[in-house]
Amino acid sequence: MKSLAIQNTLELLHIKTTNLGTSTGANFFGNGAEIESFSPVDGKLIGKVTTTTKEEYEKVVKTAQAAFKTWRVMPAPQRGEIVRQFGNKLRELKQPLGELVSYEMGKSLQEGLGEVQEMIDICDFAVGLSRQLHGLTMHSERPGHRMYEQYHPLGIVGIISAFNFPVAVWSWNTALAWICGDVCIWKASEKAPLCSIACQNIIAEVLKKNDLPEGISCIINGDYKVGEFMTTDKRIPLISATGSTRMGKIVGKTVGERLGKSLLELGGNNAIIVTPDADLKMTIIGAVFGAVGTAGQRCTSTRRLIIHESMYHKVKDALVRAYKQLRIGNPLDETNHVGPLIDTDAVKMYENALEKAVKEGGNKIVEGGVLNGEGYESGCYVKPAIVEAENHYEIVQHETFAPILYLLKYAGNVENAIEIQNNVAQGLSSAIMTNNLREAEAFLSHAGSDCGIANVNIGTSGAEIGGAFGGEKETGGGRESGSDAWKVYMRRQTNTINYTTELPLAQGIKFDL
Ligand code: NAD
Repeated sequence: MKSLAIQNTLELLHIKTTNLGTSTGANFFGNGAEIESFSPVDGKLIGKVTTTTKEEYEKVVKTAQAAFKTWRVMPAPQRGEIVRQFGNKLRELKQPLGELVSYEMGKSLQEGLGEVQEMIDICDFAVGLSRQLHGLTMHSERPGHRMYEQYHPLGIVGIISAFNFPVAVWSWNTALAWICGDVCIWKASEKAPLCSIACQNIIAEVLKKNDLPEGISCIINGDYKVGEFMTTDKRIPLISATGSTRMGKIVGKTVGERLGKSLLELGGNNAIIVTPDADLKMTIIGAVFGAVGTAGQRCTSTRRLIIHESMYHKVKDALVRAYKQLRIGNPLDETNHVGPLIDTDAVKMYENALEKAVKEGGNKIVEGGVLNGEGYESGCYVKPAIVEAENHYEIVQHETFAPILYLLKYAGNVENAIEIQNNVAQGLSSAIMTNNLREAEAFLSHAGSDCGIANVNIGTSGAEIGGAFGGEKETGGGRESGSDAWKVYMRRQTNTINYTTELPLAQGIKFDL
């Protein structure tokens, strides 16, 4: 992408090259240290934001608290109308926002635009949901009594997000939190801060146009220390944190110590099981896209293929052939399949993982390696690699956020494959490729996959916003986006109303005066 084009993109999103990184509305302020945002696409500096200081954070919380008082009493369908307008603004700005995501994070333009589409979709979902925040009505055991439950807004939702979905994860949280009557403070990844500025500009304009308090959407910027302002803060009843398991363990503990709620969306170690009844063509497309898409930097990226021994050589040969066709380069050029990793630290992690896999006995069948020279000046481009390995290797048990695919072999029936698939600490996404109904149902059964997402004849990567998204075990247990994920953003209250002139007690207890 030429620098002129990115200037244009930034202008359309009202981003100046030096931005302040704290905002309670349309205006940004900040005195903290600067964070520079470099593009992994070409290594160039895109812009700078300032780190939020503790004093600035206090101002943000106060503004959010004030906004909550107005927002929580606005009828939910009216809040939905604001989210509808926000979704329309995203439709208008889909191209520049998608370009910024692609340029700042390094994913393909198609995926950058897809991320914005996901934001639009969750807005549509939230608008409908704003008329469906319903609880149950129960029959009371006492005569002349009515009992029901209702959901109330929680307050401030603190959102901490990862670099790899720099805009969509925020919207999964905010679109639901807003219709639920909550206000949000977002700390984006320090590796993609300009995306958060762009999003804040868009929502701030919608809030201003509707004469609503600016504190409904706030952003703070910086690294984990700024995240800790929120995780340790009792005024924030819910922290929704997306990122590594390492981060989740710390955040979960910190929020738990003050008995706050946390919604954790952490790392995955996703596998596709390939049975003797798998469709080979579908398997190869699903596995290659899953392993190399977004350069292996999706939480749902395919890390392991668990292949039946009778299919092993066929699958392996087809994969090697497919990997030879992969084009690696500028993700804004649509003819390329694989873009860069986020930064050179990620490149080091990729190299270390490959080294470790070989040390533990792995056999590289697609070599991998770091690319340099023309077009690769940022130092962030690597070749996708395939390693024959065993599930118990320490490196296979670990999520490496890079395009490395491990081939594992199984013998006997599908239960053996399921056991291998479940035998890791993480539990996000899983898939089986089979045309055999018994195998598919065994995989989906109580004794099947232990992941939050289990697919049949679809790869592990990506998901639709209509379903609840998240995973078990060290993936953190949180659920975001569709289905009834909204409930975590609200507090449930049980109400019992007595419309008689008597006061009967529950469980038949008598208390006469
Ligand atoms: P990361 O854990 O390094 O950082 C994520 C965010 O947490 C950043 O904003 C960071 O500043 C913040 N943070 C880190 N430590 C913190 C602390 N102690 N207190 C408060 N905030 C803290 O993750 P990353 O490298 O940006 O993203 C990659 C990881 O995210 C992968 O493990 C990936 O699987 C995971 N991820 C999971 C999902 C999901 O839905 N399950 C989605 C996207 C990414």
